[in-house]
Amino acid sequence: MRSDIQEILLDEEAIEKRVSQLGAKISEDYFGKHPILIGILKGSAVFMADLIRKITIPIEIDFLKASSYGSAAQSSGVVKLEEDLSIDVKGRNIILVEDIVDTGNTLKYLLGRFESLGATEVKVCSLLNKPARREQILSPDYIGFEIPNAFVVGYGLDYAQKYRNLPYIGILKEEIYQ
Ligand code: 5GP
Repeated sequence: MRSDIQEILLDEEAIEKRVSQLGAKISEDYFGKHPILIGILKGSAVFMADLIRKITIPIEIDFLKASSYGSAAQSSGVVKLEEDLSIDVKGRNIILVEDIVDTGNTLKYLLGRFESLGATEVKVCSLLNKPARREQILSPDYIGFEIPNAFVVGYGLDYAQKYRNLPYIGILKEEIYQ
């Protein structure tokens, strides 16, 4: 798989360090609040697993599955909710855990949905932020790393369901998806 990667943007050490910092900050900000962390599958699975083990306050977790990409490297712009939550979010503090915010269309859709479900507050923790292609006026509350406008894979992020198990985040060679 390494030969398909043009450049490693974030290595294991950098990711681990930043995820620890995010966990510490969330623990501090939510002290006494008992939030629900909701991982957006599949991309956030690896980040979520590492992040929650760096949080030192009581939390709950849940997952939902949303997609806007299909198997292409371009977002379709249409967000599909493929699997819903199992916890009632009414009156709760929610932290949405995302792998990456790109156009912001997925986040916009999810924020609207949680608002209509009666959540008290919804914040967003995204490992990566790619503001160059933003189509919605929004920004995650907790950001691991700002990245340039490139298609990245690894640490949960895929291309056509591959590369999620890479321990680092790298830019995929264009010839792989063109
Ligand atoms: P948005 O709705 O913000 O455009 O996109 C959100 C979703 O698109 C992410 O959760 C992720 O699944 C996918 N995505 C956006 N940019 C990238 C990227 O550079 N690499 C990968 N693998 N997925 C991306």
